[in-house]
Amino acid sequence: MTESVTVLKGVGPKLAEKLERLGIRSVTDLLFHLPLRYQDRTRVIPMGSLRPGDEGVVEGVVEHAEVVYRGRRMLLARLADGTGSVTLRFFHFSTAQQQGLVRGVRLRCFGEARRGQAGLEFVHPEYRSVNDGSTVDDTLTPIYPATEGLHQLSLRRLTDDALARLDRLPDWLPPGVLAGAGLPDLESALRTVHRPPPDIPVAALLDGRHPAQRRLAFEELVAHHLSLARLRARTAREPAPPVAVEGVLLKQLTDRLPFSLTGAQQRVIRELAADMARPHPMLRLVQGDVGAGKTLVAVAACLNAVEAGYQAAVMAPTEILAEQHFHNFREQLEPLGVRVAWLSGKLTAKARREALADVAGGRARVAVGTHALFQGDVAFDNLALVVIDEQHRFGVHQRMALREKGNRDGRLPHQLIMTATPIPRTLAMTAYADLDASVIDELPPGRTPVRTVAVSDARRAEVVERISAAVAEGRQAYWVCTLIEESEALQAQAAEDAFASLTDALPHLSVGLVHGRMKPKDKESVMARFKSGGIQLLVATTVIEVGVDVPNASLMIIENAERLGLAQLHQLRGRVGRGTTESSCVLLYRPPLSDIARKRLDALRATTDGFEIARIDLDLRGPGEVLGTRQTGTMQFRIADILRDQDMLDSVKRTARSLLDRYPEHVDPLIERWLSGSEEYGRVG
Ligand code: ADP
Ligand code: MG
Repeated sequence: MTESVTVLKGVGPKLAEKLERLGIRSVTDLLFHLPLRYQDRTRVIPMGSLRPGDEGVVEGVVEHAEVVYRGRRMLLARLADGTGSVTLRFFHFSTAQQQGLVRGVRLRCFGEARRGQAGLEFVHPEYRSVNDGSTVDDTLTPIYPATEGLHQLSLRRLTDDALARLDRLPDWLPPGVLAGAGLPDLESALRTVHRPPPDIPVAALLDGRHPAQRRLAFEELVAHHLSLARLRARTAREPAPPVAVEGVLLKQLTDRLPFSLTGAQQRVIRELAADMARPHPMLRLVQGDVGAGKTLVAVAACLNAVEAGYQAAVMAPTEILAEQHFHNFREQLEPLGVRVAWLSGKLTAKARREALADVAGGRARVAVGTHALFQGDVAFDNLALVVIDEQHRFGVHQRMALREKGNRDGRLPHQLIMTATPIPRTLAMTAYADLDASVIDELPPGRTPVRTVAVSDARRAEVVERISAAVAEGRQAYWVCTLIEESEALQAQAAEDAFASLTDALPHLSVGLVHGRMKPKDKESVMARFKSGGIQLLVATTVIEVGVDVPNASLMIIENAERLGLAQLHQLRGRVGRGTTESSCVLLYRPPLSDIARKRLDALRATTDGFEIARIDLDLRGPGEVLGTRQTGTMQFRIADILRDQDMLDSVKRTARSLLDRYPEHVDPLIERWLSGSEEYGRVG
């Protein structure tokens, strides 16, 4: 089965090259090139029960057809079946087609129903004329991931051929596992998934919950797990600089703090210190809810590296985040005599040269920057720790690349990965299976829960009134302007507009403005005045998402809240509720709310627990994604879906472990089978 696809009928060099683009080289690869989804042409849907987005077969009689001009020429035909009607719309059509679509003709169409101007319509459906009572297909039609010049028909023909050779495929899963879980053997699972038999429970198959699909999803998840485990085992054997210290600097840091560390912070700091004392690289993920105090934990790890005579690097996915980290780290570290370098994409050539020289010469003990930090010409004197602020934006491959970058004198740096918002357990178990995990599961004392309300834009004046009232009570407020565009210029413009109108509406207040386009010095001075109480209302872009800490600010208004994701809203809201007065957050939205936006706002009103919010976020985004995509977060699977298949994850983990222990010779072939198509896995795995 590992033979090249060229053994199959009709596969020459040209076709082989196209197949290669899909990651298909061998006959086995072809068998594991699984249908993305199925088309159901096995039944005729009554038009009356058709909903937008439904894909399927309808059948009816043409009531009316005409060629019209609506900006362009098109052919419209109205089709009815007694339960309802639909419009067929063609922008390209032949004369023969036009002549065929006349009143009284009976048609069967396949396509996707969309909402049109006058009810549901099918744009360019497949159709043919039929007699009353003619039969429909008796099996579901598999749809494969395809590529240009390689269509469904060829893929179906090739898989037919591959399936005919199926009997020689080894099953790498331990026999007991399948029987226990009621899952079929590999061969029958593959046959079913590629060529569903006529009597198959259609709903289960379309849902991806048929035992045949579950069997393959299970195997894929096991393979994925094993590949991360193998990766981790390899890294664990690499040498790393052991960081063994007394903790003198850490003591100096905590002595200077106006509060004491929480029990959870102390525990996680100890976990990190124990990892870093070993002569092998630490690979640890630190999670914690917004405001749990992750920064200090990272600062502590850096200090330990510095005390042992090494350097540390801190990386964030965006310039704004990196800048916030730079300020936070400098604030904590410089009083202890630890120099922090700033490697920004915005530095002048000269400033950059100097920063690089500081890092290379070892004068700077900690370097902060975006991922660009590790690209190109940055060299460290003796790097021992890399802190990555991840924000769900990295995958395992990027992490590997960074590990490689830090590699000098054959030793890898320790890695600490921090996430800004909690990751749901299911996602963490899969996406971060190559890491150890620590959770800061305790908030610093004295935080008060934030009361959250959603208010329509139409009641903006009331909200503005509310700011007035809060300020009259001696409190401070944030007004956050949001835009989905990443463009700093547009964001800044939106904030300036809001600033102007709020200054107008609240002439008796002192209103400040911060956004990413301001000079750092101006930004800092505005922030300092807000901290000291000189500014009562701060209008800001989402730059305040991280790092801002003003306990007296107890009211936050988030404009256009419907545009932001749950995690980001939760993160923003974390800026209030840091003092002892009750805080509130107003989610200002512009109606009408989409279904998913309403659910997001509801979730925020219902809970302030970041882990719960993360779970809801995954639930909302998973099924809400377009049907047929296999993507959840950073993970790409062929058939598994960690949301749908989450009930199997514990068993996946156990099975992976038992394979490693008892059938180690099955591990490589299993990974190869499922992950060979992805180059990165091939390289790092
Ligand atoms: P996050 O986990 O969201 O990154 P931060 O590290 O930004 O949280 O910390 C949030 C705020 O809480 C900061 O102002 C920090 O100084 C403060 N903080 C951190 N640890 C404690 C603690 N143990 N007690 C009181 N305040 C703390
Ligand atoms: Mg933080």
